[in-house]
Amino acid sequence: MTRTFNYCPSCGSRGIVFDRIKEFTCADCEFTYFQNVATAAGTILECGGKIVLIKRKQEPGKGLLDLPGGFLDPQETAEEAAKREIREEVKIDVDTLQYLGSYPNTYVFKGVGYHSCDLLFYSRIDAFPTEFDKTEVAELVLMDPEEIQDDEVAFESIKMGLRLFRSLRAC
Ligand SMILES: [Zn+2]
Repeated sequence: MTRTFNYCPSCGSRGIVFDRIKEFTCADCEFTYFQNVATAAGTILECGGKIVLIKRKQEPGKGLLDLPGGFLDPQETAEEAAKREIREEVKIDVDTLQYLGSYPNTYVFKGVGYHSCDLLFYSRIDAFPTEFDKTEVAELVLMDPEEIQDDEVAFESIKMGLRLFRSLRAC
């Protein structure tokens, strides 16, 4: 995890100490900040035996493959977040989601590292989406899950989720 603060956000002192896991404490004013694990939700959308992947337009992982998904908003369930991200990123509505599993991930955005726990869901759709969010997504691709290589995928959590999905299909 990268260091987030050089100065105490409360009193401005340089006495901020990081425990190298998640806790920042100020030696001067006792300000404490827990950089807790953030929750994210993503969905494997199956369409005709293949899956819908996003080619990322932004860092981190620019140009690499990802699933529709993102961080939860406050007061949101993981299912609501997964559906909202699908609606925002690939412009379709999904009714039912099946929970697959959760995987840890590290997401570095503008120099700040965030530990997340990514909850992965599965849903089947009838038609390949034709629209997408052009600020976040460079391209939508439809791939046979067996043909996706790890080094094409942006995040460790997604690599692990795709591995689980392939193993479930093989049963
Ligand atoms: Zn302080």
